[in-house]
Amino acid sequence: MQFIETRGNDGVKPSKVTFSEAILNPSASFGGIYVPEFLPTFDTQFLKENIDSSYKELAFNILKSFNIDIDDNTIQEALNRYDNFDEPNNPVPLNKIEDEAFVMELYHGATRAFKDMALQPFGYILSKEAQKREEKYLIMVATSGDTGPATLETFKKRQNIKVACLYPSGGTSDVQRLQMVTEEAENEKVIGVVGNFDDTQNVLKELLSSEDFKNELKKRDIKLSAANSVNFGRIIFQIIYHIHGYLELVRQKEIELGDKIYIVVPSGNFGNVLGGYYAKKGGLPVEKLLVASNINNILTDLIENGVYDMASRELIKTNSPAMDILKSSNVERVLFDKFGAKRTKELMESLNSSGKYTLTKDELLSLQEDFQATYSSDSEGEAEITKYAKKGYIFDPHTATCIKSYRDREKKEIKAIIYSTAEWTKFSKTVAKALGNSEVKSDIEAIDWIEKNSNLKAPNMIRELFNKEIKHPLVVEKEQIEDEILKFL
Ligand SMILES: *Cc1c(COP(=O)(O)O)cnc(C)c1O
Repeated sequence: MQFIETRGNDGVKPSKVTFSEAILNPSASFGGIYVPEFLPTFDTQFLKENIDSSYKELAFNILKSFNIDIDDNTIQEALNRYDNFDEPNNPVPLNKIEDEAFVMELYHGATRAFKDMALQPFGYILSKEAQKREEKYLIMVATSGDTGPATLETFKKRQNIKVACLYPSGGTSDVQRLQMVTEEAENEKVIGVVGNFDDTQNVLKELLSSEDFKNELKKRDIKLSAANSVNFGRIIFQIIYHIHGYLELVRQKEIELGDKIYIVVPSGNFGNVLGGYYAKKGGLPVEKLLVASNINNILTDLIENGVYDMASRELIKTNSPAMDILKSSNVERVLFDKFGAKRTKELMESLNSSGKYTLTKDELLSLQEDFQATYSSDSEGEAEITKYAKKGYIFDPHTATCIKSYRDREKKEIKAIIYSTAEWTKFSKTVAKALGNSEVKSDIEAIDWIEKNSNLKAPNMIRELFNKEIKHPLVVEKEQIEDEILKFL
């Protein structure tokens, strides 16, 4: 299968590329991104064939259905990364929390957030393809806390790849920062930036578009790639668990094959829910995709009113920082799928020039055929954590935004899968507060207190972080970052 561009072709870039090309060089014409030329089908037939498939077998079959230019061996090796999850045979456990609600835990990988689901296999494939072409790549990443650790983890010691990871100093949890600054691999550099996540992301964008910087890389024979979810190489791995969750409900006799379900996703950059959208389009019986946000509720506004308006908003810091996003990159792929390249280009140009776009009535109706959206404030989310903790199940503040979306669903008889995107250990201060202790001052105090006051236990890899040597103490002003990266290269 070939990959095409969301904003059409500029006559310079090729109008279609292979999968390996799309993941190594993920930026398309006019600032667009790559999407598959067509979608494989995940209909009843496909589901029947996979009813007994393990997660890895299902993943293999889904990847094969995209007919990508990656050999079977490499795909298999990439999927073997799931063997390092807590339970290799059950990497994404499903828990029943209500008669109609099931939580699928996507955080049982190395860095305890859902980013591992895609980045683990993706990192392996990207490095293999770079080696095959005898090319060297620099992956630059700006993180609010989860993408950074997961990117470092997947690319550590991988050949032909270097990583420069920027995080806002003071803007992440202790655990997230330690996951980054204790990284030992020689091919990776972590830099704290004075400023917030927006500042950090802006530095990255400036560097990515700086001719100077590109020339410096050229001199060193290094190309630039990206590991954020604009890279389709991540999205393809985020289709799998939506289908797996459905099959799991069938296997547990909670639904019959063919019954519809709701999918509830705590959303930021829209990569997770996009995977669900592609599964639904391919034929997975999904009634609707419920998009949960925090008070940075730009997606709620889009899906309810057809208006995407960044201009009148300021980013608000919440206790679900991975969802503190105003420019949600993967919405573009849905716009393309529904309205085509010409219209997508028009809408994206409007967003760039005026910070805003408005869908027509028909376009909005089309969006609402697949999506519904709700948002929760921090205190509403905390109340949900408190409530479910009393019933014996604890989730993190991102997952907590889903509960209201779940309750707001239109057809109460239809069962729902809620995605849990981070382990409580990454946001332990918020969780401790929800459980009744707002006095704790650090993550480690919070973790200790939660362990004493619940039946939870932090995994070793989290505890060990607090005793590891800090390898990347560097925190710098924006102006110094280019120099630091070049020194590292
Ligand atoms: C990245 C992340 C999200 C948002 O996922 P998107 O694919 O960007 O919508 C939600 N929760 C957590 C914990 C995350 O790390």
